[in-house]
Amino acid sequence: MTRQNSIVPVALDDRSYDIHIGPGLIRNAGAHIRDAVGDRPLVVLTDSAVAELHLSPLLDSLRAAGSRVLDPIVVPSGEASKDMEKLGEVMDALLSRGIERKTVLVALGGGVVGDLGGFAAAIALRGIDFIQVPTTLLSQVDSSVGGKTGINSRHGKNLIGAFHQPRLVLADTDSLKTLPRREVLAGYAEVVKYGLIDRPDFFTWLEANGKALVDGDDALLMEAIRVSCAAKADIVGQDEKESGLRELLNLGHTFGHALEAEAGYGATLLHGESVAIGMVMAFDLSVRMGLCPAGDLARVRAHLSDVGLPISAAHLGGGTWTADKLAAHMAKDKKVKDGRVTFILARGIGKAFRCADVALEDVKEVLAASLAG
Ligand code: NAD
Ligand code: MG
Repeated sequence: MTRQNSIVPVALDDRSYDIHIGPGLIRNAGAHIRDAVGDRPLVVLTDSAVAELHLSPLLDSLRAAGSRVLDPIVVPSGEASKDMEKLGEVMDALLSRGIERKTVLVALGGGVVGDLGGFAAAIALRGIDFIQVPTTLLSQVDSSVGGKTGINSRHGKNLIGAFHQPRLVLADTDSLKTLPRREVLAGYAEVVKYGLIDRPDFFTWLEANGKALVDGDDALLMEAIRVSCAAKADIVGQDEKESGLRELLNLGHTFGHALEAEAGYGATLLHGESVAIGMVMAFDLSVRMGLCPAGDLARVRAHLSDVGLPISAAHLGGGTWTADKLAAHMAKDKKVKDGRVTFILARGIGKAFRCADVALEDVKEVLAASLAG
């Protein structure tokens, strides 16, 4: 069983933890969790969609391993659960179950459950341990690495939160079999991002294997998740609290967030889809500024559209979106410092860097070109 799994260590001093990646990890979670935290009481948080598909095997496994398991807490599926009201309900549910400092919260689900559960764990009794069992590709390659937890506010996404590292992550590739293809593709955009930031050989590997991977090839998925987690862990290990280097992980996100803000954060445009379009815009901007060969932009566009991701904003907004509107969202992005937007640009595939010196006119040209298709 465990022989087939990969383990990626995340090295953060006394907050270090392992990410296990492979099939069967939910079915065998009990043993892994006992190895990591002993026989402490456990409480599972999940969402309604994931509960139907993956909660029973997890609970069975935890009980079979002899752990005391409190009643699971189930929130509605979807981004709306990352809010103050749901956080309050989760805190109340935890406290009514009589949790103690040694209780461990197990977050079973995508990034929503991971972020909400991680934040609840960070503040319950001034901090209890938590374990992530991510069940979307996005959460397996992105949100389960690095310890950012939190919820949304009416002022913007992820504005209330804490850094709280999990004690263990179990990324079960079998759980991806029930994930809708569109969600798989959205997660895949973040996988491509790691290649574009600083792993050019990985991007070349994805060009060869990406299509089979998004079609569900287990071995390829495992390898892509392993490299992605290692890539993010490497960056987070050097800059846990995002004082510089970690900003590279925002490649495609400054543009992407503008699209998401205009689309209204929902099913119209998934985060990963906005990142795919945003990465194309970041490469386009780099080319226009004379920093990046046009051939590299062409490869990015070709690969993303090859697997089925959107590469332009032309299909969005029914003709009502303008470059000015999108640029206005960027100026409000939480990453703005002293009125300047830091862009992640690229000197080529695998050569991303931070640049605070970008002309607004160039940005608007890129936005207009993306809207034109
Ligand atoms: P999600 O958690 O909403 O999951 C997407 C959908 O898939 C939901 O409807 C969910 O119920 C369903 N689902 C989950 N697993 C499933 C499975 N195995 N089979 C079938 N359906 C399943 O969204 P997500 O894309 O996983 O995560 C997005 C969230 O992650 C955002 O809130 C974002 O802010 C956050 N995020 C956090 C970080 C971080 O560093 N903390 C990084 C990236 C994203
Ligand atoms: Mg992202």
